[in-house]
Amino acid sequence: MTADPQVPAERAAAAQAFADLLAPGGGRRIALTTHVNADGDGIGSEVGLWHLLAARRCEVFIVNPTPTPDRFGFLIPTGADLTERGPRVFDKADVIVVLDISDLSRLGHLAKAVQDRGVPVACIDHHVSPGTLPAGPRLVAPEATATAELVFDLASALDWPISGEAARALYVGILTDTGGFRFSNTTARALRVAAALLERGVEPESIYEQVYASAPEGRIRLMTEILQTLVVEPEVGLAWVTVPPDALDRHRATADDLDGIVEFPRSIAGVRLSLLFRSLANGRVKVSLRSMGTVDAAELAHQFGGGGHRKAAGASLEGSVATVQERVLAAARTYLRGTP
Ligand code: 5GP
Ligand code: MN
Repeated sequence: MTADPQVPAERAAAAQAFADLLAPGGGRRIALTTHVNADGDGIGSEVGLWHLLAARRCEVFIVNPTPTPDRFGFLIPTGADLTERGPRVFDKADVIVVLDISDLSRLGHLAKAVQDRGVPVACIDHHVSPGTLPAGPRLVAPEATATAELVFDLASALDWPISGEAARALYVGILTDTGGFRFSNTTARALRVAAALLERGVEPESIYEQVYASAPEGRIRLMTEILQTLVVEPEVGLAWVTVPPDALDRHRATADDLDGIVEFPRSIAGVRLSLLFRSLANGRVKVSLRSMGTVDAAELAHQFGGGGHRKAAGASLEGSVATVQERVLAAARTYLRGTP
């Protein structure tokens, strides 16, 4: 086994504050949560941290603002996910750890409970964000590939052993946030961390099968229907798709089943910005943005109160699909014309 990647000094310093709060000697009751529509990094980071803290004799539970996607169910330790019980789960927490998001706004119906609970709220995240959580230790590094990389660093800095199960969860975080080690956030360090996780027993093929090759038929049928809506504007390098009304219900699919569809329009030669529009249950319209080259998806998302990373961002807007589309497409065309 080769040496694990070195932990940057500022991350190691942040890790110490976590150790003091979370595991001063066991017995802490710790609630872990992540953003709405949890993705592989949100869940992988939660489960990785769950194992680390359970091994420090803490009572740890996961509670998410939206149902934990089935796709990641194989990672969840039995009884660890209390999402169905909702915000009252926080009543028995001495500490809350928010993963993969630094803002209350994306904690959905859990936001109020997190804000009002009156316990320290720790945060581990790799988003650029204003950070609106109640006070507590922070391990926030926008340059990190995934939140799971930061959970790995936390464990490394504190000499907390990473079990095979923890390693598997953290690997899923890095794998999914890099689009299978393809996106620009696939750094040398992320690959070194992934290698360190393999050395702890992760089997890439079995993870691939669980995450990417265990889809319900409805996911593929949903995808074909959405791809039918493709519109391309080669003059500006823009392409978009729209989730047809009720398509999720008809295919018995969930928001998680939409993951990755927005990559298809982006994969067209000459397309620099790809968008996916869908209606949300709360009456708003969500737009997912993916970009290529110099196009900054987050900059565009900010115009609509959203956020994210340069290559992957999102926002949710008030209005009908048609009016939101009109607004966002107009801004996207203007942005693309001004961006060589
Ligand atoms: P997705 O399009 O996969 O839902 O999100 C891509 C990225 O955009 C996420 O990792 C997240 O950083 C960001 N994002 C998505 N939706 C929102 C939103 O409504 N508000 C903010 N601030 N960021 C979002
Ligand atoms: Mn992430």
